Amino acid sequence: MKFTFVTLFPNLIEPYLKDSILSRAVESNFISYEFYNPRDFTKNKHKKVDDSMIGGGAGMLLFCQPLFDCLDEIKRKDEDAYIIFPLAAAKPFRQNDAKRLANKKNIVFVSGRYEGIDERVIEKYANEVFSIGEYVLTGGELPSLVMADAISRNVQGVLGNEASLDVESYENNLLEAPSFAKPEKFQNLSVIKEYLKGNHSRICDLKFQMSICKTKYYRPNKEKK
Ligand code: SAM
Repeated sequence: MKFTFVTLFPNLIEPYLKDSILSRAVESNFISYEFYNPRDFTKNKHKKVDDSMIGGGAGMLLFCQPLFDCLDEIKRKDEDAYIIFPLAAAKPFRQNDAKRLANKKNIVFVSGRYEGIDERVIEKYANEVFSIGEYVLTGGELPSLVMADAISRNVQGVLGNEASLDVESYENNLLEAPSFAKPEKFQNLSVIKEYLKGNHSRICDLKFQMSICKTKYYRPNKEKK
C-alpha cells in the first residue's frame, strides 16, 4: 500500500519512515510513500499558500488554489486515491479505522497548518476526516504519521507476527491485560504468579478478566460490543 503525504513540511514526516518497523516495511515493499508540497503548486510570485480568513478571525488559512491543483494532480495520476484530512474538528480515529483503511491502495493525508484549511478544499476532496485526539496540534503532520503508522501495522507482512494483533488493546473493545518479560523477578518485583504455572487456559481466562477490569478503569464509558 502507498501513503501520499501532502505537506508543507515533509522533513517532519520522512525520518519516522526511515527507521524501525516502517523502514523495513518500505524496504520489503509492503508499503511505499510519496510527498507532495502544496507550495510547488502555487501560482503567485512568492509561493504563498496561506491567507487571512474571510469574515475575520485570528491567524491564516491554507487557501484553495495550491491544494486544489495539488489534489487534482494526485487524482489525475490515481483516480482511486483515498483522501483523508486530519482535523481537530472531526470524528475520532480508532483501531477499527486503522484495520479498515489497511485495505486501501493509496491513502493521501493532507496536513493542515496555521489555523487550518479553507473548508471548500475539505468539502471537495475529503473521502474521510479524522481527529487523533481532543487537543489542537500545530499541524497535520503528526496526525498523518500516527494514522499511517496504525494503518501500516494492519497491512499484511508489516509485522513479523500478525498473531500479536489479535490480543492487542482495542480488539473486542477491550484494553490489553498486563504483560511481563523475563526475568520472573526483578528488583524484588514479581510477575503475576498465575502466569508462571503454565496452565494456558487459566492464564487466558485471567488475562480476559484483567482486560475487562482495565477497560472499566481507564475507559469507564466504553460499552462492551
Ligand atoms: N483552527 C483549527 C481548529 O480549531 O479546529 C485548528 C487548526 S490546527 C492549528 C492546524 C492543523 O493541524 C489542522 O488543520 C489539522 O490538520 C492539524 N490538527 C491539529 N490538531 C489535530 C488533531 N487533534 N487531530 C488531527 N489533526 C489535527
